[in-house]
Amino acid sequence: MEIGVLDLQGDVCEHLDHLDMIGITARRVKSAEDLDHLAGLIIPGGESTCLARLMSTFGLDQAILKRHKEGMKLWGTCAGAILLATHIKQETPYFGLIDIEIERNAFGSQLDSFACEASIPEVSPLPMPLIFIRAPKIKSVGNGVRVLLAMDDFIAAAESADILVTVFHPELTPSVEFHRYFARKCGLHPRSEQGNGAVSRSLWTRTGWMRFARIARL
Ligand code: GLN
Repeated sequence: MEIGVLDLQGDVCEHLDHLDMIGITARRVKSAEDLDHLAGLIIPGGESTCLARLMSTFGLDQAILKRHKEGMKLWGTCAGAILLATHIKQETPYFGLIDIEIERNAFGSQLDSFACEASIPEVSPLPMPLIFIRAPKIKSVGNGVRVLLAMDDFIAAAESADILVTVFHPELTPSVEFHRYFARKCGLHPRSEQGNGAVSRSLWTRTGWMRFARIARL
């Protein structure tokens, strides 16, 4: 069984790289057929309006809903979390699959992006680096949703039985703990030691985000 990464826009290579580092076979998802037999799908960070338009254009919205009903787990990071929410402040929900209220761009502009660290015992015994890029805030959660990380006046990570949402970007840090956590949620067995992510690393090491991730290394 494999985990897919929605490959329309946003930080796709980084998720592929992290799955590779924990020994999980990852698949790029560009069309409905790419969803066949996936145990889970990651909807990456990027721009939620853009992702929504592209998914609707390529018929991926209905295909994802169908596969999710059949058991495919979902993880939305940042823009992905916005797309999965049942309530988006002043906007119409897209998938509406996890009972959370979310507010887009809640920290301000792109320049208000930041890195910090936090402990999430369910996910890792060690504190993890977190990167927020023009992030949303989860303001509240409803029935069947468990808060994994609450910070200041918002919730940063939450989950239901079959969906994980994070408003930060584990794939932009050296930590693979969240990818392990999602893989286990999908019923898969990630490697406990960390590989070097050789397969896809070459695709993105020269990007500016790698420098950002180094700053966040703790
Ligand atoms: N600001 C973006 C949106 O509202 C999300 C940013 C991100 O995914 N890092 O869609």
